Amino acid sequence: TYIVTDSCINCKYTDCVEVCPVDCFYEGENFLVIHPDECIDCGVCEPECPVEAILPDTEAEMENWVALNGKYAELW
Ligand code: SF4
Repeated sequence: TYIVTDSCINCKYTDCVEVCPVDCFYEGENFLVIHPDECIDCGVCEPECPVEAILPDTEAEMENWVALNGKYAELW
């Protein structure tokens, strides 16, 4: 599963949303999130992000962002 992290805050690009084959991006308060159960881990979105906000959830010290992606994704 991939997650969206702090560089996305107030970012207006949606290149990632357009390439995702399963439409698993959702809108958080001021940044996008990836639904952890819907992401198929294809990695297509990662290079599309102009601010490099998208990371695999296996990255170290990212627990808070994993939780936030899940939290905001569930709201919709
Ligand atoms: Fe969508 Fe693939 Fe990115 Fe997951 S890794 S959010 S499925 S484009």
